Amino acid sequence: MSDAERKMQFLFALRSKGVTDNRVLTAMEKIDRGDFVQGLFADRAYEDMPLPIACGQTISQPSVVGLMTQALNVQPRDKVLEVGTGSGYQAAILSLLARRVYTIERHRRLVHESRTLFEKLDLTNITAITDDGSFGLPEQAPFDRIIVTAAAEDPPGPLLTQLRVGGIMVVPVGQSDAVQSLIKVTRTEGGYDYDELRPVRFVPLLEGLGKE
Ligand code: SAM
Repeated sequence: MSDAERKMQFLFALRSKGVTDNRVLTAMEKIDRGDFVQGLFADRAYEDMPLPIACGQTISQPSVVGLMTQALNVQPRDKVLEVGTGSGYQAAILSLLARRVYTIERHRRLVHESRTLFEKLDLTNITAITDDGSFGLPEQAPFDRIIVTAAAEDPPGPLLTQLRVGGIMVVPVGQSDAVQSLIKVTRTEGGYDYDELRPVRFVPLLEGLGKE
């Protein structure tokens, strides 16, 4: 199968799994997942499955990336925070939809590799930071949108407080060894509204920095 055919099949799979927002589909057509998957698994980049990356982590399943991005409903003027940079794929997609993207990752090596990719792809509105993202990024808060790409037992308190009123956060919630729920949190004047979107499976949100 040619690259063009594989990419067409990739977009078809996204649509058939419920990714229908044209802005999201266009961003996912422009950002080539093949740039974010290296080594042994490079030839599986267009399959709708999570794949291993460095530091024992994963690049998420494309349809889940699409559904999370769609639920986030990013607007062109938005300032977005991502917790869990991983390969940088999700941040790259967000960068085409938002004004500014901050992404935090606990593994230094993954931050370094994704910064290199962002530069290569000329994605100049992303700042990648090595840190424990559970505490958010208070110096840049409030955020219009927050996306967490690792599973927490509950939506982390600091992230809730760093969401602006009217803002949306998407976060997988549940035990790391079980099926988790993808939750959409909307901050209102009086508190927070919670919607359960779908079952998902993510690596856990861990404390502190990684070894590499
Ligand atoms: N969004 C990524 C992508 O597009 O490739 C996939 C993320 S991967 C499923 C989850 C990532 O969250 C891992 O790289 C992991 O190291 C990171 N992570 C886990 N706990 C974290 C924390 N407390 N702060 C920052 N990153 C964390």
